[in-house]
Amino acid sequence: MNYQEFFENRLNALKEEGRYRVFIDLKRKRGGYPTAEYRGAHITRDVIVWCSNDYLGMGQNPVVIAAMKAALDETGAGSGGTRNISGTSAYHVDLEKELANLHRKEAALLFTSGYVSNSASLSALGAGLPDCVIVSDEKNHASMIEGIRFARCEKRVFKHNNMKDLCEILAEIPARSAKIIAAESVYSMDGSVAPLADLTQIAKDYNALLYIDEVHAVGLYGAEGGGMTEAAGVQNDVHFIEGTLAKGYGVAGGYVAADANAIDFIRSFAPGFIFTTSIPPAVAAGALAAVRYARGSADERKTLHERSDFLKRKLSEKGFPVIPSVTHIVPLLIGDPVICKKISDILLTAHGHYVQPINYPTVPRGTERLRFTPGPYHSEAMIIDLVNALEAVRARIGPEAFRFSAGDPEEMIALEQARL
Ligand code: PLP
Repeated sequence: MNYQEFFENRLNALKEEGRYRVFIDLKRKRGGYPTAEYRGAHITRDVIVWCSNDYLGMGQNPVVIAAMKAALDETGAGSGGTRNISGTSAYHVDLEKELANLHRKEAALLFTSGYVSNSASLSALGAGLPDCVIVSDEKNHASMIEGIRFARCEKRVFKHNNMKDLCEILAEIPARSAKIIAAESVYSMDGSVAPLADLTQIAKDYNALLYIDEVHAVGLYGAEGGGMTEAAGVQNDVHFIEGTLAKGYGVAGGYVAADANAIDFIRSFAPGFIFTTSIPPAVAAGALAAVRYARGSADERKTLHERSDFLKRKLSEKGFPVIPSVTHIVPLLIGDPVICKKISDILLTAHGHYVQPINYPTVPRGTERLRFTPGPYHSEAMIIDLVNALEAVRARIGPEAFRFSAGDPEEMIALEQARL
């Protein structure tokens, strides 16, 4: 086999389809966020970042940075081991207690990332529970899909947020089988929200465990930032709440919170937890400071939602096809990977606004989009400047680049297909 040719051909196919990923080299500026220095092949310039998942700017928060520096000075760089072999510190333990308390659960368990927390937990649960069937929303994240695959148990997929479909599937599963319903609270690419009250009722009706990924909601929703499960008042009825420390909390790492026995089970049986070095103590210290800060301060959450509403309104006023969402996420439907990349490139190099194109397989083909996540530090003036820049791009490359009208993404696409 000619290995070189194989790699080259596969990469060329990605390039031809317009979905070859290119890194954008950024240096975020402490205290100046959302401004960052962009270093391109031919230019270096300051840009405004519109697609970061550091939703609340916690990665720049002085309280978080001070906690990380203090831990670094006190204890050094790495943790030195897996959690079971010398890698557990007071920082890890305190953070787990804080997360359990945030979600009103008996216990929580840290992982090296949100991705690993999903993959490791779902695989351990699905492999361990007798005759387990995991019933998964069709739009669940890759990390959940991977966990279910690694579990080697039966998997059933229900239509996105479709409770009728979910119930029909559950009704077909024998009563003696263990069942896990797996869903996200906020779907990050469309901004759709799971019907949590219905899910908890259905889980009760069918004696299923409910596993909710709150990665795009922790820190952002609920009186203390406990996510959509807190906002909806259903924390007690969701058996597993999974989250990240990398987005709303601005640092790194992931976790699952649940009953003490369930957490002890994952701690004891998940290879993705057992066989890897724990997160550095300074990271745990920063995350702990971020969680505590976000529990006590609602200002950032409030401003985040005001800014995202403002951007949605301004884009809609100018006729841009915003996918409607009640969340902080602002997706603009383009529907073509090449045009998506072109708009992103012009915005970056000519106007100093950075938004990453989102292509297949992250979203279905034909629904390629630009996904904006304005935060509390994006001023109204920055938002107006962004919308003006988008208008300039539309004038430069032609209005057909934004051919959709605002609405539900599937409806938007169906209408466009009918028009053609
Ligand atoms: N779950 C969802 C829904 C996500 O979107 C992501 C990442 O984007 C993850 C889990 C993984 O989280 P992390 O970035 O902490 O690995």
